[in-house]
Amino acid sequence: MKLICIGRNYAQHIEELANERPKDPVLFLKPDSAVLPKNHPFYIPAFSDEIHYEVEILVKINRLGKHIATKFAHKYYDEIGLGIDFTARDLQAKLKAKGLPWEKAKGFDGSAVIGKFVPKELFNDLNNISFSLQKNETLVQEGNTKAMLWKIDELISYVSQFMTLKIGDIIFTGTPAGVGKVNPEDRLIGRIENGIFFEVNIK
Ligand code: MG
Repeated sequence: MKLICIGRNYAQHIEELANERPKDPVLFLKPDSAVLPKNHPFYIPAFSDEIHYEVEILVKINRLGKHIATKFAHKYYDEIGLGIDFTARDLQAKLKAKGLPWEKAKGFDGSAVIGKFVPKELFNDLNNISFSLQKNETLVQEGNTKAMLWKIDELISYVSQFMTLKIGDIIFTGTPAGVGKVNPEDRLIGRIENGIFFEVNIK
Protein backbone atom coordinates (compact mmCIF):
# COMPACT_ATOMS: atom_id res chain seq x y z
CA MET A 1 0.00 0.00 0.00
CA LYS A 2 1.30 3.43 -0.85
CA LEU A 3 0.39 6.85 0.45
CA ILE A 4 0.33 9.36 -2.37
CA CYS A 5 0.44 12.95 -1.22
CA ILE A 6 -0.45 16.09 -3.13
CA GLY A 7 1.34 19.30 -2.28
CA ARG A 8 0.19 22.86 -2.99
CA ASN A 9 -3.42 22.11 -3.85
CA TYR A 10 -4.99 25.07 -2.03
CA ALA A 11 -4.07 28.61 -3.09
CA GLN A 12 -4.11 30.11 0.42
CA HIS A 13 -1.71 27.45 1.72
CA ILE A 14 0.67 28.11 -1.19
CA GLU A 15 0.66 31.77 -0.15
CA GLU A 16 1.30 31.11 3.55
CA LEU A 17 4.46 29.11 2.73
CA ALA A 18 5.46 31.59 0.00
CA ASN A 19 5.59 28.78 -2.53
CA GLU A 20 5.14 29.10 -6.26
CA ARG A 21 1.76 28.12 -7.66
CA PRO A 22 2.48 24.87 -9.54
CA LYS A 23 1.54 24.25 -13.19
CA ASP A 24 0.82 20.61 -12.36
CA PRO A 25 0.02 18.87 -9.06
CA VAL A 26 3.04 18.34 -6.78
CA LEU A 27 3.38 14.64 -5.85
CA PHE A 28 5.32 12.84 -3.16
CA LEU A 29 5.00 9.51 -1.34
CA LYS A 30 5.05 8.36 2.23
CA PRO A 31 6.00 4.73 2.94
CA ASP A 32 3.52 2.38 4.64
CA SER A 33 5.70 2.58 7.76
CA ALA A 34 4.63 6.23 8.12
CA VAL A 35 1.11 5.25 9.18
CA LEU A 36 0.45 6.18 12.81
CA PRO A 37 -1.18 3.12 14.41
CA LYS A 38 -4.80 3.70 15.43
CA ASN A 39 -5.22 5.26 18.88
CA HIS A 40 -1.47 5.77 19.32
CA PRO A 41 -0.08 9.16 20.33
CA PHE A 42 2.23 10.98 17.94
CA TYR A 43 5.76 11.30 19.34
CA ILE A 44 7.66 14.35 18.13
CA PRO A 45 10.84 12.95 16.54
CA ALA A 46 14.24 13.98 17.87
CA PHE A 47 15.42 15.29 14.49
CA SER A 48 12.93 18.16 14.29
CA ASP A 49 12.01 21.22 16.34
CA GLU A 50 9.16 22.17 14.05
CA ILE A 51 6.61 19.47 13.28
CA HIS A 52 3.59 20.94 11.49
CA TYR A 53 0.10 19.48 11.21
CA GLU A 54 -1.55 19.51 7.76
CA VAL A 55 -5.14 18.28 7.78
CA GLU A 56 -6.17 16.70 4.47
CA ILE A 57 -9.10 14.92 2.83
CA LEU A 58 -8.17 11.31 2.02
CA VAL A 59 -9.35 9.10 -0.82
CA LYS A 60 -9.01 5.31 -0.66
CA ILE A 61 -8.45 3.55 -3.99
CA ASN A 62 -10.68 0.50 -4.49
CA ARG A 63 -9.41 -0.98 -7.77
CA LEU A 64 -6.32 -1.32 -9.88
CA GLY A 65 -5.87 1.37 -12.48
CA LYS A 66 -3.48 3.30 -14.64
CA HIS A 67 -3.96 6.05 -17.20
CA ILE A 68 -7.41 6.73 -15.74
CA ALA A 69 -9.44 9.39 -17.52
CA THR A 70 -10.90 12.06 -15.23
CA LYS A 71 -14.44 11.13 -16.27
CA PHE A 72 -13.90 7.52 -15.08
CA ALA A 73 -11.95 8.39 -11.90
CA HIS A 74 -15.08 8.18 -9.73
CA LYS A 75 -15.12 4.39 -10.32
CA TYR A 76 -11.81 4.02 -8.49
CA TYR A 77 -12.91 5.06 -4.98
CA ASP A 78 -15.89 4.50 -2.72
CA GLU A 79 -14.70 6.10 0.49
CA ILE A 80 -13.59 9.49 1.74
CA GLY A 81 -11.62 10.06 4.93
CA LEU A 82 -9.56 12.61 6.82
CA GLY A 83 -5.97 12.54 8.00
CA ILE A 84 -2.84 14.51 8.81
CA ASP A 85 0.30 14.85 6.74
CA PHE A 86 2.76 15.61 9.57
CA THR A 87 5.72 17.52 8.20
CA ALA A 88 9.12 18.33 9.71
CA ARG A 89 9.00 21.89 8.37
CA ASP A 90 12.51 22.81 9.51
CA LEU A 91 14.02 19.81 7.75
CA GLN A 92 11.81 20.29 4.68
CA ALA A 93 13.00 23.90 4.38
CA LYS A 94 16.64 22.74 4.35
CA LEU A 95 15.93 20.03 1.76
CA LYS A 96 13.93 22.42 -0.43
CA ALA A 97 16.74 24.99 -0.31
CA LYS A 98 19.15 22.38 -1.63
CA GLY A 99 16.71 21.01 -4.19
CA LEU A 100 16.73 17.60 -2.46
CA PRO A 101 13.82 15.14 -2.08
CA TRP A 102 11.47 15.69 0.88
CA GLU A 103 11.17 12.10 2.14
CA LYS A 104 13.01 12.60 5.43
CA ALA A 105 10.72 15.53 6.26
CA LYS A 106 7.52 13.82 5.12
CA GLY A 107 7.89 10.05 5.34
CA PHE A 108 9.04 9.46 8.90
CA ASP A 109 7.33 7.02 11.26
CA GLY A 110 3.96 8.26 12.46
CA SER A 111 3.80 11.09 9.93
CA ALA A 112 0.57 9.80 8.35
CA VAL A 113 -2.55 10.00 10.48
CA ILE A 114 -5.36 8.08 8.79
CA GLY A 115 -8.74 8.61 10.38
CA LYS A 116 -11.97 6.83 9.63
CA PHE A 117 -13.44 6.51 6.15
CA VAL A 118 -17.08 6.87 5.15
CA PRO A 119 -18.92 6.02 1.92
CA LYS A 120 -18.70 8.86 -0.58
CA GLU A 121 -22.47 8.59 -1.11
CA LEU A 122 -22.87 10.36 2.24
CA PHE A 123 -21.83 13.58 0.54
CA ASN A 124 -24.13 15.47 -1.81
CA ASP A 125 -21.16 16.97 -3.64
CA LEU A 126 -17.56 15.75 -3.29
CA ASN A 127 -16.42 19.15 -4.50
CA ASN A 128 -18.09 20.84 -1.55
CA ILE A 129 -16.91 19.02 1.59
CA SER A 130 -15.95 21.18 4.54
CA PHE A 131 -13.36 19.93 7.00
CA SER A 132 -11.36 21.31 9.89
CA LEU A 133 -8.66 20.72 12.46
CA GLN A 134 -8.92 21.73 16.09
CA LYS A 135 -5.80 22.03 18.27
CA ASN A 136 -6.68 21.99 21.93
CA GLU A 137 -9.54 24.53 22.18
CA THR A 138 -8.73 26.40 18.96
CA LEU A 139 -9.91 25.81 15.40
CA VAL A 140 -6.62 26.06 13.49
CA GLN A 141 -7.49 24.89 9.96
CA GLU A 142 -10.70 25.10 7.97
CA GLY A 143 -10.99 23.96 4.39
CA ASN A 144 -13.44 23.00 1.70
CA THR A 145 -12.76 20.75 -1.27
CA LYS A 146 -14.27 23.39 -3.54
CA ALA A 147 -11.04 25.39 -3.02
CA MET A 148 -8.82 22.60 -4.39
CA LEU A 149 -6.79 23.64 -7.43
CA TRP A 150 -7.19 20.05 -8.69
CA LYS A 151 -10.32 18.13 -7.70
CA ILE A 152 -10.30 14.52 -6.49
CA ASP A 153 -11.09 13.01 -9.91
CA GLU A 154 -8.44 15.16 -11.60
CA LEU A 155 -5.86 14.08 -9.03
CA ILE A 156 -6.63 10.39 -9.59
CA SER A 157 -6.28 10.85 -13.32
CA TYR A 158 -3.04 12.79 -12.95
CA VAL A 159 -1.37 10.42 -10.48
CA SER A 160 -2.34 7.38 -12.56
CA GLN A 161 -0.38 8.72 -15.54
CA PHE A 162 2.79 8.14 -13.50
CA MET A 163 2.07 5.26 -11.13
CA THR A 164 -0.39 2.40 -11.11
CA LEU A 165 -3.02 2.83 -8.43
CA LYS A 166 -3.68 -0.28 -6.36
CA ILE A 167 -6.43 -1.37 -4.01
CA GLY A 168 -5.88 0.21 -0.60
CA ASP A 169 -3.65 3.05 -1.78
CA ILE A 170 -4.56 6.33 -0.12
CA ILE A 171 -4.32 9.78 -1.65
CA PHE A 172 -3.70 12.76 0.66
CA THR A 173 -5.28 15.56 -1.34
CA GLY A 174 -3.41 18.56 0.09
CA THR A 175 -3.90 20.93 2.98
CA PRO A 176 -5.68 24.28 3.23
CA ALA A 177 -4.20 27.30 5.00
CA GLY A 178 -3.53 27.40 8.72
CA VAL A 179 -0.72 24.87 9.11
CA GLY A 180 1.28 25.21 12.31
CA LYS A 181 3.47 23.62 14.91
CA VAL A 182 2.56 20.92 17.40
CA ASN A 183 3.92 20.74 20.94
CA PRO A 184 3.90 17.98 23.55
CA GLU A 185 0.50 17.63 25.25
CA ASP A 186 -1.39 19.12 22.31
CA ARG A 187 -4.53 17.32 21.23
CA LEU A 188 -5.67 17.41 17.61
CA ILE A 189 -9.23 16.68 16.48
CA GLY A 190 -10.10 16.35 12.80
CA ARG A 191 -13.63 16.82 11.49
CA ILE A 192 -15.47 16.51 8.24
CA GLU A 193 -18.49 18.74 8.55
CA ASN A 194 -19.52 18.09 12.17
CA GLY A 195 -18.28 14.52 12.49
CA ILE A 196 -15.06 13.58 14.27
CA PHE A 197 -12.78 11.52 11.98
CA PHE A 198 -9.69 11.31 14.21
CA GLU A 199 -8.22 12.42 17.52
CA VAL A 200 -4.47 12.44 18.15
CA ASN A 201 -2.47 13.26 21.26
CA ILE A 202 1.01 14.74 20.83
CA LYS A 203 3.84 13.52 23.07
MG1 MG B 1 0.36 17.97 2.84
